[in-house]
Amino acid sequence: MPKPFYITTPIYYVNDVPHIGHAYTTVAADVLARYRRLHGDDVFFLTGLDEHGQKIQQAAAKAGIAPQTHCDRLAPQFKNLWQRLNISHDAFIRTTDVAHKKIVQLYLQQLYNKQLIYKADYTGWYCTFDERFWTEKDVVQGLCPDCKRPVEQISESNYFFRMGQCQERLIRHIESHQDFIRPQSRRNEVLGFLQKPLEDLSISRPQSRLSWGIELPFDRNYVTYVWFDALVNYVSALEYLTEPPTMKRYWPASVHLIGKDILTTHAVYWSTMLMALELPLPQTIFAHGWWTVSGEKMSKSRGNVVDPYAIVDEFGADAFRYFLLREVPFGHDGDFSREALIGRINSELANDLGNLLHRTLTMIERFAKGLVPQAHDEARTDNQLRHQAGQLPELVETHLSKLEFNRALESIGGVIQVANQHIDKSAPWKLAKDAADQSLLQTVLYDAAEALRIVALMLFPFMPQTTEAINRQLGMTGPLPDAQWGGLQPGTAIAKGEPLFPRIENTASQGGSRVNQEQSAAPTPQPSPAVAAAPAPATPEAQISIDEFMKIQLKTALVLSAERVPKSEKLLRLHVDLGSEQRQIVAGIGKRYEPESLVGKRIVIVANLKSAKLMGIESQGMVLAAGDKDVGGLVTVIEDVPPGTKVK
Ligand SMILES: [Zn+2]
Repeated sequence: MPKPFYITTPIYYVNDVPHIGHAYTTVAADVLARYRRLHGDDVFFLTGLDEHGQKIQQAAAKAGIAPQTHCDRLAPQFKNLWQRLNISHDAFIRTTDVAHKKIVQLYLQQLYNKQLIYKADYTGWYCTFDERFWTEKDVVQGLCPDCKRPVEQISESNYFFRMGQCQERLIRHIESHQDFIRPQSRRNEVLGFLQKPLEDLSISRPQSRLSWGIELPFDRNYVTYVWFDALVNYVSALEYLTEPPTMKRYWPASVHLIGKDILTTHAVYWSTMLMALELPLPQTIFAHGWWTVSGEKMSKSRGNVVDPYAIVDEFGADAFRYFLLREVPFGHDGDFSREALIGRINSELANDLGNLLHRTLTMIERFAKGLVPQAHDEARTDNQLRHQAGQLPELVETHLSKLEFNRALESIGGVIQVANQHIDKSAPWKLAKDAADQSLLQTVLYDAAEALRIVALMLFPFMPQTTEAINRQLGMTGPLPDAQWGGLQPGTAIAKGEPLFPRIENTASQGGSRVNQEQSAAPTPQPSPAVAAAPAPATPEAQISIDEFMKIQLKTALVLSAERVPKSEKLLRLHVDLGSEQRQIVAGIGKRYEPESLVGKRIVIVANLKSAKLMGIESQGMVLAAGDKDVGGLVTVIEDVPPGTKVK
């Protein structure tokens, strides 16, 4: 029996404009779904839309149309995006589906019968924009603490779910299931939240104020929305979107992928709802981080919302998918910029992968009549490439089982680099000149092509179109063969095509343009340095543009702790607070400062420097200090600005 694997994204609010965050969660889920299918697992991958609530009701009223019409008009902007991004979901749920509403009502009735739902009076401050109540202590000067819009005091009767009574059980479940909430920092966050008494959850609105929801089956004057409406989608989909129903087959879900903003909703609200419904809890809720754009928070008012359609139009779906999962460890916050995206495309996709394919096929055309050669001189070749490519599937499995997408891609990139080095070292163009080296030449070419085949297979979950293109060029047709070394059949006619990823000239300020550069069969240039998109090093006299300067993210940081690195008189290990996150930085300031003297100081760091290891310790950034050879003094800020403030 194939192993069931059920993966979900949140259902997205239909009134939202799709942005990079939606694309991120959905692409990550797609990679896992494709990868598990490749393994022969029985995968069910669900995404969809949350279509009820006041904002939709108001927007529809403003447009003079029925709310359902409004939803029907908006739904395609998500559906089409998933098509553009090659998302392979098995079902698409909409909370306005009639069958979904019936299941929600069934569950509500069950809980009402068990007296787990009750009616009570409630007074609170209501924010219409966020569609939620705040307590007296949350509200600041009559404004919503979240969106800063005015709130209104409302007293009304509502129905409540007895969430509070599940508190102890939930804590025990989290404590006894290490992988239930991931990453670890989020798990701690939820356990922290659960230290305060858990209140009951208001689950209804009077029809007079909100009608665009699901009617409560036991009181037609009220509707439910959000909690019992939206969250129930994860199980209702299995009841009616598959034929026959697959609740028994797929529940509990293997992974709920979510953004960290809806962690409490899932880890606490959804979990306690499942407990009340006597259903098992999902195996893993994984909350990923947020994207900033060129170091800034993404928002409509800043006008910097990243439009996934525009990115796909300009760079292609695969490059975007690759970037999203390569750039940032899953679970951390990330920063999106054109420069970073172009840097990855040029160095890792065009230079490393594209060049490997192009030069390998060019040489097979020239030295092997366009047919995959036979490898019969393995003893004379360096077998590091065979070894590393052979181990790749296992490495990718290890990383993906932990949702370490970036590390899986790093391992694949490692094999690509070794393959390029293998060609450089063996120099087939020299071997071709000597009759005695012909069999070695054929072996070198076979190894490069076979490494490419395995790389392409491992890239399939991430970049399905690229895998197809590589396979086509390698002359492979039919289903994907397995990852065992030797799958490529000698004698197969190759079909060299266009370069996979043409290099892109970064002319961001003018709007950007593509430059098609012929990739050559000559030795690859050295891979680009750490910051791939960085311009060539400036000579001392050279001036840089403001754009180049703005690539360096400087931020204020608060030193939380400092200690000496053992066996080093120069290095200190600092833990600093950046507001949204904490970092470890190793700094060569130990001759100038005693560690204790630094705690509580506000310093300035380079926040987007690629992390590096110093004496085996990871350093996630660099402190700024005055002084050339010796440290004169750390850079600090005169005013008491919060940690994480941008410095420019
Ligand atoms: Zn608000």
